Amino acid sequence: MKVDRASSGAAAQMSPDFRLYLKEQRVATFSQWPFVSDCSCTPDRMAGAGFIHCPSENAPDVTQCFICFKELEGWEPDDDPMEEHRRHSPNCAFLALQKDISQLTLQELLKLSKERMINMIKKEVNQKITELENHTEHIRNEIQSLIS
Ligand SMILES: [Zn+2]
Repeated sequence: MKVDRASSGAAAQMSPDFRLYLKEQRVATFSQWPFVSDCSCTPDRMAGAGFIHCPSENAPDVTQCFICFKELEGWEPDDDPMEEHRRHSPNCAFLALQKDISQLTLQELLKLSKERMINMIKKEVNQKITELENHTEHIRNEIQSLIS
């Protein structure tokens, strides 16, 4: 408990991005989470498996790993967060950690942070590609309607 409180205090001084490295900061994202007791995917276990809760109007139970950015939804009370994480993102660097993040050396933390940046960039690039493809499709349809 002492460690948790100390790190919460430190959290205020950390960049929002780095706060997610602290489990209690990830737990805090689950304030609207429906599965809180008598189930496998409690906020504590979800955060322990690397997830944060990022609900939207259309998808109230979307979660995302803060390292690999894999998004999962459609959670059932019996789902094991760690198992689901492994199944859907087996190469995630968070899953490969042999110890708690607070125990990592600076070098290990930087390596994890680098992985995270790579994943973030990949995700952004993929989103841009999808947007561009949708736009291209739209233009193609416009042209097609002009021809016919
Ligand atoms: Zn992950």
